[in-house]
Amino acid sequence: MTLDPCEKCEELLQPYLDRDLTDAEHREAESHLDDCGYCRKRYRFEESLRRYVRQAWAEGMPPELKAKLSALRTPL
Ligand SMILES: [Zn+2]
Repeated sequence: MTLDPCEKCEELLQPYLDRDLTDAEHREAESHLDDCGYCRKRYRFEESLRRYVRQAWAEGMPPELKAKLSALRTPL
């Protein structure tokens, strides 16, 4: 297990979060999340951020808050 930034993140996590993987890739992503503390942390963060953003959009969010939220999504 490693806590260093992981190259798998870019490759797997974004499509995983977007539900954009084949079955085989989906399984690969899940087994990687089991093994990799960094990706797991990253995944939880992205997942909760997405949930929050979706909810905020649905409720109608002021533009400056939208801007703040997108700034949170730092590139890997
Ligand atoms: Zn990883």
